[in-house]
Amino acid sequence: MQDSNADSLMTPEVASAEDEPPGSSGWQTAPFLTATQVAPPSALPAAARRADWTDWRWQMRNRIRTVGQLVGSFPKLKGLTAIAEAADKFPLAITPYYASLIREASFADPVFKMAVPNVDELWDPSFLKDDPLEEDHDMPVPGLVHRYPDRALVITTTTCAMYCRHCTRKRVAGKRETCITPAQLSRISAYLSAHPEIHDVILSGGDPLTMATPALERIIATVRAVNTVDVIRIGTRTPVTLPMRITPELVEMLRRYHPIWINTHFNHPNEFSPEAREACARLADAGIPLGNQTVLLHGINDDPRLMEELCRGLVRMRVRPYYLFQCDLVRGVEHFRTPISRGIEIMEYLRGRLSGLAIPTYVVDAPGGGGKIPVLPNYVVSSSPTHTVLRNFEGMLISYPEPCTPETDPGRGLTGRGAATVWDLAAGRAPKIQPAKTDRHERRTQHTPATTPIAVFE
Ligand code: SF4
Repeated sequence: MQDSNADSLMTPEVASAEDEPPGSSGWQTAPFLTATQVAPPSALPAAARRADWTDWRWQMRNRIRTVGQLVGSFPKLKGLTAIAEAADKFPLAITPYYASLIREASFADPVFKMAVPNVDELWDPSFLKDDPLEEDHDMPVPGLVHRYPDRALVITTTTCAMYCRHCTRKRVAGKRETCITPAQLSRISAYLSAHPEIHDVILSGGDPLTMATPALERIIATVRAVNTVDVIRIGTRTPVTLPMRITPELVEMLRRYHPIWINTHFNHPNEFSPEAREACARLADAGIPLGNQTVLLHGINDDPRLMEELCRGLVRMRVRPYYLFQCDLVRGVEHFRTPISRGIEIMEYLRGRLSGLAIPTYVVDAPGGGGKIPVLPNYVVSSSPTHTVLRNFEGMLISYPEPCTPETDPGRGLTGRGAATVWDLAAGRAPKIQPAKTDRHERRTQHTPATTPIAVFE
C-alpha cells in the first residue's frame, strides 16, 4: 500500500459541536517563559485565565498553529523566514500547556527545540527518507502496519496535540488532521480476525488520545472484539504535551478494555510537571501499566547524567523506561541525530547506576523495515567451550565456567607467567581480573563481612 495514510483518513473527532473556533482566545506565552514549571493560571493573559486551562479541548483549540501565532508568542523569532519554510514543510502545533514548559525562548531550551520549527529541518542529506522504516510497505490494509509476527500497529489518526520536530512520522502527522474511517476500521478488524497470530495491537498515529473519547472507544472496542488479540497498547504523548487529556472519564473508559497498556514519550526532565505527574498517576491507578519511549536527541537528552535523571523521574511516576530510540533516518531530523557510540556510552553509564527497572533498551529501528535492533555495550569479552569472559560495569572481568562435559577440562590453575590475562580467564585458569580500586571495594573495606550468611535457616 503506497498511498499516504493521511489521504484515506477522515476529519478527526476532536472538537465537539459546542467548541469555540480555534484561535479565538488570542492566547500568548512569551512573557511567561521563565517559570520552572507550568505557568500558574494567575500568570496567564486575561484571555487564557477566562478559558479553562485544564480543559483539553480548550488546549487543542488554542494550539499555536501558524508562524504568526508563534512570533506573537516568541517575538525573538520575528524575521526568521526560514522558520516559515520549515513550518510549511512540516506542520506546527504547540499546546499552550507545552509552551508554558519553555523556560527560555531559544533553541538551547530543550522544550523549545522539540516544539518550534527550525531551519535545520530543511537540511536534507540523501540518506534521509520520508518513511525510512518502510511502514507503508508493511501495510496490508490502509492504516494497519504488520511488520512483526505477533504485533500490528494501527494508525488511528494523523492528529497530535503537538507536532514534535523530531517525529518519525513527519510524513503523516499533521499533514492533514484526520482519523480512521468506519470502513477502514472494519477492514482492520477483518484483517486481525484473519490473523490469529497477532496478539498485541498498538494504537498509534498521530496521537490516539487527541480523539474524542467515544470515537476512541469505538476503535478500542472493535479491536477488543477480536478474541485472538490479548493486549491493546496505546502510544500517546498526551501525558507530556496535553496531560489534562487524561480525564477521569477517559480512564474509566480505558479500564473497561483491559489489558490496556500505554506507552508515552518523555524526552527531558523539564517535561515533568505536576500535571504530567497527575496524568500518569491517574492511569497507573487505573491499573494501566505505563512505559516510556524516549528518543535520543542531540542537544536535548544526549547526556548520560541527564538520561539518568530522566529515567529516575519516570520510575518515580510509575512509568517504566521501555525504549531509548536512536533517532530514525527521517527527512527533517538530521540536526537531532547523535552517533550510536553516544547512545552506547549512555547505556554504559546507566548500567550499575540504575536498577534494571529504570534502564531502557536502546534500539535502532533499522532502515528498510528491518525492525528494532537492540544495541548494547559489549559485556561478553571472549568465550571458549569451557569459559565465557564477562565484563561488569566497573570494568571487572569475570570468568564464567560453562557446564562441564567429558570433552572439557576446566580449571588448571595459572600458568605462572605473571598476572592473569583474558586468555587465562577464557581457559578457566583464573576466575577474575578486576580494577584495583572501585566504589564497591571501598564499601566492602568499611565493614566486617558477616561470618554467618544472612540467608541461613536453622
Ligand atoms: S506525538 Fe508522536 S506522532 Fe505526534 S508528532 Fe510527536 S512523535 Fe510524532
